[in-house]
Amino acid sequence: MLDNIRIVLVNTSHSGNIGSAARAMKTMGIHDLVLVDPVEAPDGRATAMAAGAVDVLANLRTVATLSEAVADCGLVIGTSARNRTLEWPLLDPRQAGAQAIREAATHKVALVFGRERTGLTNDELQQCHYHVCIPANPEYSSLNLAMAVQTLCYEMRMHALASEPVPASDTTLQEYPQQGELDRFYVHLEQTLRDVAFLRPDHPGQVMGKLRRLFNRCRPDSQELNILRGILTAVQKARRNT
Ligand code: SAH
Repeated sequence: MLDNIRIVLVNTSHSGNIGSAARAMKTMGIHDLVLVDPVEAPDGRATAMAAGAVDVLANLRTVATLSEAVADCGLVIGTSARNRTLEWPLLDPRQAGAQAIREAATHKVALVFGRERTGLTNDELQQCHYHVCIPANPEYSSLNLAMAVQTLCYEMRMHALASEPVPASDTTLQEYPQQGELDRFYVHLEQTLRDVAFLRPDHPGQVMGKLRRLFNRCRPDSQELNILRGILTAVQKARRNT
């Protein structure tokens, strides 16, 4: 199940931190590392900090956007050093480990880490199903990036070690759409809402963010998402015919 866990580092400034994160991952048995638009590509400092985990660096992928990094994932968990104004389903690291390992039996799970200085943007946080915050000292809650990776990978490992293998025939596991399909749904939804003038081009407001939160909360499975896409297509067709 740990093979289905992906660590995503967004816009990391220091190449050494990428190496430290790779080492933190490998010690916990996690190997899939994706970088989103790093400021510095992994160089000699990354290799030095990775120590025995240079294979994780050798196999990493670099992409331009967070959407690309998580497009094939069925669960995306964002990390944040503090509770933001954004109200979003929140997990503690232990709950995040449990949920990630449970779901990793059926699909890829991404854990997303932010920039050293400023963390993840609200837009990036809105691309996640859950947020997880390590409940550190409230007066100084910001961990070093690789330490945060280590803490969460440790929780994943603890749950993986404790969990029974899931039989392939287990039908109680839900099939969730990949994040890329959800992205296409949100584009379709926004377009339809514009077509019917529910959203005004000059005044989109925060409606799409709030709708993302709503769908994120009820987490449609693949079949339900297909129904929603069908409804949008029907609305667009009906509108064209009037
Ligand atoms: N001021 C930034 C801190 C960034 S620390 C902020 O408020 O988010 C760099 C990254 O390390 C964060 O984006 C997050 O991915 C991770 N991190 C640091 N401390 C954390 C904590 N207490 N809980 C969860 N993630 C944390």
